[in-house]
Amino acid sequence: MLILKKDDYDKLLKHCQEGLPNEACGLIAGRRDGEVKTIEKVYLLSNVDESREHFTMDPREQFAAVKDARKNNLELLGNFHSHPETPSRPSEEDKRLAHDSASEYMILSLMEEENPVLNSFHIDKDKNVSRNEIKVI
Ligand SMILES: [Zn+2]
Repeated sequence: MLILKKDDYDKLLKHCQEGLPNEACGLIAGRRDGEVKTIEKVYLLSNVDESREHFTMDPREQFAAVKDARKNNLELLGNFHSHPETPSRPSEEDKRLAHDSASEYMILSLMEEENPVLNSFHIDKDKNVSRNEIKVI
């Protein structure tokens, strides 16, 4: 299970909405307690691809986020990105680019404007996808 605070969810949602029509992205950091991961900080990064179908995180922002997480004793839990026009599940490219089976890959679908859908996935080395439950508190 992945726990996300309502404030952070709102921040993430707003960042993705403001990024439209392109994909938006960022990193999540927090703490791990057995099977439960709690997100303590959401980093909103720029998508240097400026694309509707893929994203690349700004490497300098990424570096700054990793440094900040370390400074705050937080573990990097994974990343998030938006799907402006497609459902909340990893695309073939998302799977191809997923190299860390322990990482959370969160995808926020904005396909239905009134009904954003956020899921988190694990992608193993054979590219099998499983969904991890997100609890917004
Ligand atoms: Zn994607």
